[in-house]
Amino acid sequence: MRLLIHFVTLSFLASNLAAEGAFYGDPPDAHHPWAIHDLNRPQPPRVEPGTFSSQTEPGKPPSDAIVLFGGTEADLSKWQSAKNPTEPTKWIVQDGALLCVPKSGYVRTKEEFGDCQLHLEWAAPAKPAGSSQNRGNSGVFLMGLVEVQVLDNYDNPTYADGFAGSVYGINPPMVNALRKPGEWQVYDIIFRRPLFKDGQEIDPGALTVFCNGVLLQDHTPLEGIGGHKARTKPRPYPEKGPLQLQDHGNPVRYRNIWYRPLPARAVEGGTNGYLTEEAASAKKKEIASNIRLDATKLEGKAKMYRLLESLCYESNDAALKESTAMVATFLAEVKQIPPAKIESRKGDIMELNNAVQYLAKYQFIPGDFAAKGELERIIKEQGWDKKK
Ligand code: MG
Repeated sequence: MRLLIHFVTLSFLASNLAAEGAFYGDPPDAHHPWAIHDLNRPQPPRVEPGTFSSQTEPGKPPSDAIVLFGGTEADLSKWQSAKNPTEPTKWIVQDGALLCVPKSGYVRTKEEFGDCQLHLEWAAPAKPAGSSQNRGNSGVFLMGLVEVQVLDNYDNPTYADGFAGSVYGINPPMVNALRKPGEWQVYDIIFRRPLFKDGQEIDPGALTVFCNGVLLQDHTPLEGIGGHKARTKPRPYPEKGPLQLQDHGNPVRYRNIWYRPLPARAVEGGTNGYLTEEAASAKKKEIASNIRLDATKLEGKAKMYRLLESLCYESNDAALKESTAMVATFLAEVKQIPPAKIESRKGDIMELNNAVQYLAKYQFIPGDFAAKGELERIIKEQGWDKKK
C-alpha cells in the first residue's frame, strides 16, 4: 500500500513537473524526441553506489551490478571450462580469490552479455617469474572475443600493444599505472560491441579502460577482435557472449568481478542521443500519446496546458481542437473581468501567452490561432509588454 501511495505521489509530481517545464527550451526536432530540459524525459533510475576496494578488502558492487565472482566457493558455479563448457572449471577459489591453475585452460562465465561496464581486480604473482609476455599473463576477453591484456608489466617491458591494459593487438594503454606484482590491480572497463547493419559497420565498437582509476583506453575503436601476430579486420559480434579469463600458464588471481549491462545506443534503437528521423518520430508519437493520456486525468488549466504541450511532439486534431476550445473559454472569462481587476490575472495571462508564443514560434499551432492576437492585445493594453 505504501508503495502504491509512493507511486501515485511520484506520478502526480511528474505531471506537475512536466507541465511546469513545458514551453521552455528548444523543442523536440527531427532527431531529438525531447525538448531541451524536457521534464517528460524519464528520470535516471536510482542505483546505490558501492564502495572502493582496499588491498586487504574488496569493495562492494553497486546495487544493480550482476556479480560474477564475489569471493566464495559457490561463485565457481557461475563459471565453466571454456574448452569443455559441460565441465566445471579447474580454476580454484583461494583466500577469496579466483586463481588460475596453470594449464587448466581458459575459464568463462555461464552468463552471456554484450555491452557492459565491467569491474574486476587481478593480481600477478608477488614474486615475478619470466619476462615480457611470460610474466603474470592472463587476459579479460569481453564476449570471449576481444582481450584487455592482464600482464605483470610493473617492471617488465614487452611489445606495447600487448601491455597490461592494451586492447591486445590493437592499441597500447596510454600509460603504465600498475601497482607492484602481488598487489591488487583494479580494472574498470566500458565495452561496446561492434554493430553492423546489412553487412555495413554502423559502429566499430569501443573499449574504455581504467587501471587503478587511471585512464588507459579512451573509447578505443575496435578492429575486429584483435589477436596475436595477425591484424584483424572489422567484423560483427554476436549480441552476447561470455566473459572469458585467460590461462596463459601463470597463477594470476581475480576478485570482485561484476558487470552492469549498458543501454542500447541510438544506432541500435536506444532513445537517448541523436536519433534517426524514424526513431525520433516514433518516440515523439509515444511521448505525445502519454501526455494526452495524462491530460485525460486532469481538469481545467492543467489539462489545457498538457494538451497544448502534446502538440510539440505530434500534431493531433482532437488535442488541438480541445485545447483551442479551452483557451477560448479562458479568454472569454478574462473578457468578463472589469479592467480594474485584470491585474490580478496577470500571471495566468502571461503564462498562457508564453505557451502560445512558444507554440506559434515553432509552428506547433496554426498561424491563425486566434488566441495569439487576443493575448497580445490584452498584454499591450495593460502595458505588460514594456520592460520595467
Ligand atoms: Mg593475455
